[in-house]
Amino acid sequence: MATNRPAVLDLIGNTPLVRITRFDTGSCELYLKLESQNPGGSIKDRIGLAMIEAAERDGRLSEGGTVVEATAGNTGLGLALVARAKGYRVVLVVPDKMSAEKVLHLKALGAEVHITRSDVGKGHPDYYQDLAARLTRDIPGAFFADQFNNPANPLAHETGTAPELWQQMGHDIDAISVGVGSGGTLTGLTRFFRQVQPKLEFVLADPTGSILCDVVRTGKHGEAGSWAVEGIGEDFIPSIADLTGVKRAYSIDDAESFDTARQLLKREGLLGGSSTGTLLAAALRYCREQTTPKRVVSFVVDTGTRYLSKVYNDAWMVDQGLLERKHYGDLRDIVS
Ligand code: PMP
Repeated sequence: MATNRPAVLDLIGNTPLVRITRFDTGSCELYLKLESQNPGGSIKDRIGLAMIEAAERDGRLSEGGTVVEATAGNTGLGLALVARAKGYRVVLVVPDKMSAEKVLHLKALGAEVHITRSDVGKGHPDYYQDLAARLTRDIPGAFFADQFNNPANPLAHETGTAPELWQQMGHDIDAISVGVGSGGTLTGLTRFFRQVQPKLEFVLADPTGSILCDVVRTGKHGEAGSWAVEGIGEDFIPSIADLTGVKRAYSIDDAESFDTARQLLKREGLLGGSSTGTLLAAALRYCREQTTPKRVVSFVVDTGTRYLSKVYNDAWMVDQGLLERKHYGDLRDIVS
């Protein structure tokens, strides 16, 4: 199989930025960086490339090797895009709440997908990260990408996402709204902006049920609950997550996240995933609370095409109790 560097990898990053104009943003300007425009459809292409090329450089991954990862789907898609293009085998462990579109896309890329339980926590043998660690031990020549502990993950954002944003915003940003899955995005951005704009405020967008919002607000947390938004929110604090730059934290429930994602499509024509709805909802709340004009940024983290059967499907939304039946047909022109 070819081991030269395919041109598609040069299309990762340098994503466009757009200003949101059809929402009430109070006195603020709100911009979204369209990570959905990466070739694999999400911000995770950046870390897929960074983690694989770091492992190649330090000899943890070489010809004939296998890339293993525990992933909500997007990291798997980024890793599979890069790894398959470079000729590596890919083995992924994905929790069963993740959308069918992601799993089908992973399989189409040639990844081997192990679906595991979403309802068990760290330490359980079926927990997706524990299962991935076990598979790595069983497969000779396997490299565990381990986005939750891999320094190449935040580094990709510190050296890529952050300076792009800084340049696109003309060196003038007051706040950034982000979610935390592995914490790579938040930590990389925090490291970069601490150097160039130390007053910048990070806004944490956390799904209701995740412990992170309480950790930021009180330093303590109770039991984690469950939530349907994919890719963000945790039942533990990831080791690479630096929460010290977070000045405001919002707990956003599934109904608000999903509704905000749907509004983003209707009002601005931007098709984002469920976590984009959470990030935008938190950004909007932050904007409306400000008394002085601020320049605020958030992300379309991944493309909404991988959620057409969920967030953008009225019947599914009604079944989940996330949409009132009186609104049924809201998207009729689009879905029927
Ligand atoms: N949104 C989605 C859809 C994701 O898949 C992820 C990563 N799991 C994130 C947000 C969070 O990014 P990070 O891992 O950098 O905290």
